[in-house]
Amino acid sequence: MEYGPAPESATAANEWLDKHNHEFGLFIDGKWQVPQSAKYFDSINPANKKFLAKISEANKKDVDKAVKAARSALPKWVKLGAHTRARYLYALARQIQKHSRLFAVLESMDNGKPIRETRDIDIPLVARHFYHHAGWAQLRDTELKEYKEVGVIAQIIPWNFPLLMMAWKIAPALAMGNTVVLKPAEFTSITALLFAEICEQIGLPPGVVNIITGAGESGAAMVSHPGVDKIAFTGSTDVGRIIRRATAGTGKKISLELGGKSPFIVFEDADIDTVVEGVVDAIWFNQGQVCCAGSRLLVQESIADRLYKKIKARMEKLRVGNSLDKSIDIGAIVAPVQLKTIEKLVKQGIAEGGEIWQPSWSCPQDGYFYPPTLFTDVSPASTIAQVEIFGPVLVAMTFRTHPEAIKLANNSRYGLAASIWTENINLALEMAPKVKAGTVWINCTNVFDAASGFGGYRESGFGREGGKEGLFEYVKLRTDDLLTVPKNNSNKKIAQKTTSTSVPDIDRTVKLYIGGKQSRPDGGYSLPVYNTSGKLIGEVSEGNRKDIRNAVEAAHAAESWTGMTGHARAQVLYYLAENLFARKDEFVNRLTQMGILKSEATKEVNVSIERIYTYAAHADKYDGNVHHTTSRNVTLAMPEALGVMGIVCPNHSPLLSFISTVIPAIAMGNRVIVIPSETAPLSATDLYQVMDTSDVPGGVINIVTGKQDELAAVLADHDDVDGLWYFGTKEGSKRIEHAAAENMKRTWVNYGKQRNWFDAQQGEGEQFLRHATQIKNIWIPYGE
Ligand code: ADP
Repeated sequence: MEYGPAPESATAANEWLDKHNHEFGLFIDGKWQVPQSAKYFDSINPANKKFLAKISEANKKDVDKAVKAARSALPKWVKLGAHTRARYLYALARQIQKHSRLFAVLESMDNGKPIRETRDIDIPLVARHFYHHAGWAQLRDTELKEYKEVGVIAQIIPWNFPLLMMAWKIAPALAMGNTVVLKPAEFTSITALLFAEICEQIGLPPGVVNIITGAGESGAAMVSHPGVDKIAFTGSTDVGRIIRRATAGTGKKISLELGGKSPFIVFEDADIDTVVEGVVDAIWFNQGQVCCAGSRLLVQESIADRLYKKIKARMEKLRVGNSLDKSIDIGAIVAPVQLKTIEKLVKQGIAEGGEIWQPSWSCPQDGYFYPPTLFTDVSPASTIAQVEIFGPVLVAMTFRTHPEAIKLANNSRYGLAASIWTENINLALEMAPKVKAGTVWINCTNVFDAASGFGGYRESGFGREGGKEGLFEYVKLRTDDLLTVPKNNSNKKIAQKTTSTSVPDIDRTVKLYIGGKQSRPDGGYSLPVYNTSGKLIGEVSEGNRKDIRNAVEAAHAAESWTGMTGHARAQVLYYLAENLFARKDEFVNRLTQMGILKSEATKEVNVSIERIYTYAAHADKYDGNVHHTTSRNVTLAMPEALGVMGIVCPNHSPLLSFISTVIPAIAMGNRVIVIPSETAPLSATDLYQVMDTSDVPGGVINIVTGKQDELAAVLADHDDVDGLWYFGTKEGSKRIEHAAAENMKRTWVNYGKQRNWFDAQQGEGEQFLRHATQIKNIWIPYGE
């Protein structure tokens, strides 16, 4: 039986476009403004190539105007208070619901995606996002007491889920008391402009939401504007990298949700017919233009042929066509440029030896369409297995055992999502923590909800959107305002290089500590250490690039630390505190030798011991949530260790600052490479014996002494380092953030500002744990 056409009416959408004469200005300070650039570009419907509207192209001056409007609206918006903001968010949700069909039709016309998806998925999720965050707005002052708004937020979004991405950005930002300037992607600006009208209709104070339109240059002007406090970006990894580099050292907060090449892993005991429907949702939802699309099908060898056969049969029945036809499965590709990219990568896949299969029918010719495509016999290293295609192209590979499945799944520079298909819950939950991805769907895929966080690991970016975890992107600690850049340069450098034999009256040079052993530095150099009066008090090894590389290797080898229970890690930390206590006098003496008053030194050792206790306590208590998502799912939000972290310690309070940074990181299961205080490294190196006697497994804490900024640069450049904390200078912070863009490692830098490590509000607490972890959301459906 053939399907007849089932067109959704475009009348209301066309009337709305007519009302605007098919031309839109910029929405700045609550008013529609003509762009200063006087430039416009066309938005077309990719399903029929017809013109929809002329869209303004914002230039630097327009961006400046919008940022200034957001800035001047900020104090009033903050002052309105949590409840009033909650009411505005609630009103936005209601209004979106009231106009849901208009939004859905316009979204389908502008983007090319099927009306079935915009009507049943995108727009309901948009309304849900505003409702959910109306709740967070209400609860902000009680649930996030120690936090305040970040300020003016620049938000840049892609074209694949135009309105949904806008909701993911605007709702939490407003809920936390910020004001925003948002730019939709150039291919899909129209629904954001309808949303601007909704803001007008509910009487949102002018300047709280500003919508500007334009392409990459307009986005770049937002990123570089000095009046912006945070940038929230969703888009390609390449542009994410540009943004990370452009903001390095500025202190602008950033969150990046980038590309993916997500594995869809099928075990032989999976319910194969459900898997086939899962594949459809994973890769043909939204034409495969989904950052978390299950684009790599990893299937257990024993069922591969059977599964491919069923997938092909299903593909043959899929319908590609006009986005406003209610019975089509796959709509149009957003723009010709995207279609060309898909075609080019498919050609490359064939050239590299992949076996291609496409249905027998051909696509309509009136729009930008591409048929569902399956590649089998693909080598894991081939381009189409590694590069994000962002189209309806599925790439399949096989595995035999589950360790092999994990290896294949993690054989990607990305880490956005994964889905795992098996009827064996033990196997699924064994796999979930091992797959490096921010979201893991078990026996389901592409499910989203405002109550659950979403975001990546590795080159898929950092930061979360949705859930309580997503709120932290839009707040900062009130105590952050107390941190200042000291006037005197506390980063006094070590005087000069000597050879280890040039200071005969010092009995020994302290070695490095790598893999649980003391080792000589590769370069064979030592550095003298002076106290505050300039007296020579010892020598330490001068570590170099090779020593850092060895330390990173040792930290990777110590992976079992990450797999240990929080309880087991806590036992090691308590033991460490006990052994530090036993040697308390030695450590006090060392600090006094450095020139610290005895009373201060005693206090520093005591607080250090107490702080180890704090994180030993947290080791089995900083745990996750079960989110209240709307579908029948148990959604687990689990904090996971970043993996291998570098820590560059502050120079001052050398023992306490070492403990305050290293211990929370390892309590959460990370393995670390530490570069201790450059001017006062000896209280860190004195810890070698304490660690040896405390059962800290070799490789969990590796210590490399030497010139901090040189060693920090090696850590920042290292691809196998997942996170880096840096408490040094302003310039050093900039270099770290810039270099970290290469593999998108998570960084936490101080921009030269100092903390009082004795003050528990500045020197310990949840912020350290949060920076040492990333949240993974695991979705487990239940019911028949
Ligand atoms: P995609 O590949 O999904 O189109 P892009 O990263 O190119 O993703 O685009 C995502 C968003 O980023 C769009 O709104 C686009 O206009 C914007 N953009 C593109 N280049 C830049 C840039 N250099 N700086 C800031 N924003 C940019």
